[in-house]
Amino acid sequence: MSQSLFARFQPIAAIATTPKAIQTLQPLCQSTNATLFVPESLSNLPNVQTYTGSLKKHIASIWSEYRAFVFCMATGAVVRLIASLIEDKSRDPAVIATDQDGYFVNSLCSGHQGGADELTRLIAHQLGATPVLTGASTSLGLPGIDILGLPFGWCKGSGDWTGVSAAISRGETIQVIQEVGSTLWQDNLPEGHSFYFGFEEFNESISPQARIWISTTKRQFASDTKLPKVQWHPRVLWVGIGCERGTSRKLIEEAIAQVCTRYHLATDAIAGLATIELKADEVGILDYCRDRNFPLKIFNAEMLCQVNVPNPSSIVEQEVGTPSVAEAAAIVASQASSLIVPKQIIKLDGEPGAVTVAIALSDLEYTGRTGQLLLVGTGPGNLDQITPAAKVAITGADAIIGYSLYLDLIESLLRPGQIIESLPITQERQRAQRAIELAQWGLTVAVVSSGDCGIYGMAGLVMEELQAKGWDGKVPKVEVFPGITAVIAAASRVGTPLMHDFCTISLSDLLTPWEVIEKRLEAAAVGDFVTALYNPRSQTRTQQIVIAQQIFLKYRHPNTPVAIVQSAYRPDEQITLTTLEEMLEYSIDMLTTVLIGNCSTRTYADWIITPRGYLTATSDQ
Ligand code: SAH
Repeated sequence: MSQSLFARFQPIAAIATTPKAIQTLQPLCQSTNATLFVPESLSNLPNVQTYTGSLKKHIASIWSEYRAFVFCMATGAVVRLIASLIEDKSRDPAVIATDQDGYFVNSLCSGHQGGADELTRLIAHQLGATPVLTGASTSLGLPGIDILGLPFGWCKGSGDWTGVSAAISRGETIQVIQEVGSTLWQDNLPEGHSFYFGFEEFNESISPQARIWISTTKRQFASDTKLPKVQWHPRVLWVGIGCERGTSRKLIEEAIAQVCTRYHLATDAIAGLATIELKADEVGILDYCRDRNFPLKIFNAEMLCQVNVPNPSSIVEQEVGTPSVAEAAAIVASQASSLIVPKQIIKLDGEPGAVTVAIALSDLEYTGRTGQLLLVGTGPGNLDQITPAAKVAITGADAIIGYSLYLDLIESLLRPGQIIESLPITQERQRAQRAIELAQWGLTVAVVSSGDCGIYGMAGLVMEELQAKGWDGKVPKVEVFPGITAVIAAASRVGTPLMHDFCTISLSDLLTPWEVIEKRLEAAAVGDFVTALYNPRSQTRTQQIVIAQQIFLKYRHPNTPVAIVQSAYRPDEQITLTTLEEMLEYSIDMLTTVLIGNCSTRTYADWIITPRGYLTATSDQ
C-alpha cells in the first residue's frame, strides 16, 4: 500500500454525490485512507459516511477538520461550495476536483503550501489520470519558492512571498544568497532557470528582480523597497544550555530569544537544544522543548569535559564535573568545531534562576522529519508496465536514487524540486548507502530498480546495508513496491511458458561462486523446472551460458523450446523462439532473459505453451 505517502495530507475528505463518482473515489479512498462522504440517498454503500441536507453546509461544518478535500464533481460546483470558506493560502486545506470518469485531477486551491499540487500528482497516478496543475512554477519545472525548504525542514521566514513568486514566474533574474543548509535543491534545478547564486554585485545587465535569503539571520525587510525579498531558515543552530535548578520555562525562552536578537539570529533557525545529563529532567527546559518541538540532546560530563571551549569555568567544573555545559554541549550537538555565540548568562528581574546559552552552527540542518525508504520496482521498460503504487512512490519521494538508464525511463514521473541522484551501474553499494544516509537525515527516498526491486535489484542491497548499520527495523521506515520482473515480462511476450513450476537463475558469478550457480542449474534441470536465466552473458562472461546449455541438454530434449527475449517492453525489444540445441546461435546479452521450457513445454505458431495439465487430467486437481 502506498498509504504512508498520503500520510502528510491526512485527514483527507473525499466527496461524491453520484453513484459513478463513488465508484471512481472508492478505490482511491482505500489507498489514501480518505473518508468518503456521500448524500443520504446513497448511504446504502459500504465504507461511506453520509451527510444530510445541503452539501454546502456539510462542507462548511467539516472545513477546518480536514487538511485536504477531494471532490468528484464539476469544478464550477466545487468553486461555489468553497468560495465563502477560503481564507488564506497559508492555512486553507488542499482542494482537488476530479471528473466522474477519473480522467483528470485538478489542483484547485492551496497548490503549494496546502500541498494540493503534490496530492494531485499522487492521486492522478493512483487513478491513472492526468494531473491538471496550472501554477506557473510547475510549468517552469521549479519547486514553489514558498515550499522550497519543506523537504529539509527549513522554516519559512518573513518576506514578500507573492512578490518573489511573481518575479520567478515571469522568468526574471532571482538572486539567491544561501549561507547555510543543504544545497541539494540547487543541483536539481532545470536547465535555463533564472536563479543566480552568490553575493557578487550584479552588473547592470543582470540586476536581480527578487532576492531569496537562506540563512540563520532574521532580516527585517523594508516594505517600500522595489526588490521583493524572502527568507528561509534552515535549522542549523544548536543551542547549548545550562541553568540553575528550577529555572522557569519563561526565563529559558526569554534567554534564548534575547541571545538570538542580540546576534540577529532567527529562532526559527534553531535545530534543538543540548545540555548535560544532570539537566535531563529540568522541567523548564523540557517544557520549552516540547512546546517548540525541539529535540533535546543530552551529554554526560565526561564527554563535555573533553571539548575545547572559549570560556571554561572552574566553578562549573567543581559543581558538575565539566568546565563547560552550554558551550561544550552546543559544540558536541552541532558537530561543529567552534561557536557562533559564546556563552551568555541571562537573568530576568522577578524570575528566579539564571540561564547560560551558547550557540553553534551545524553543517547539516536538522530536518525534524522521519525518513522513509521506498524500494521501488519500475517494471521491465515502458511505463505502462509499472504499478500505480510504484508511480505514486516515485512522484511522492523527496529524492530518487537509481541507475541512470532506469531514471531516464521514469523521467515523466518526476516532479520539480525532487533530488535525483544517478550512480553508475558499478556503484550499487554507494547507491544503497547514499539512500540510507538521506533517509536517516529525514527524506523520503525512492530507490528504483528495473523489473522488481527485490529480484537481483537494489532492494536487497539496501536491506543488507541497513542490517549492517544496526537498523531497528522501523526507522527509517521501509516499504517495498513490487514490479514486473524480467521473467514475467519475457514470458508474457511469448505466451504462457510459466504455467508450471519455474525458477530463475542468474548466471552472473560476480557475487555468487560459479560452483553454486552450476549446482542450481543442475538442480533446476533435474527437477524439470521451466528456467529463466538472468544476466546470461556479458562481454567478459561468455562461457556461463554455454555451460548452462550443456547442463540442460543432459536432462532435456534438444528440441525443448527456448525463448530469447531481449529488452522486453522497450523500444528495441527482440524476441527469438528457438530450441535448447540451437539457442547459442542467436544474440544473447545482458539485456536478455533466456527462458528454457520443461519437458512438456511446446511451441505453437509463434507461441510457447507449458501445459498445466488441464486437458490430460482425469479429475479436478
Ligand atoms: N531487478 C530486475 C533484474 C535485474 S538483473 C528484474 O526484476 O527484472 C538484470 C537482468 O535482468 C538482465 O541481465 C536480464 O537478464 C534481465 N532483464 C532485465 N530487464 C529485462 C528486459 N526488459 N528484457 C529482458 N530481460 C531483462
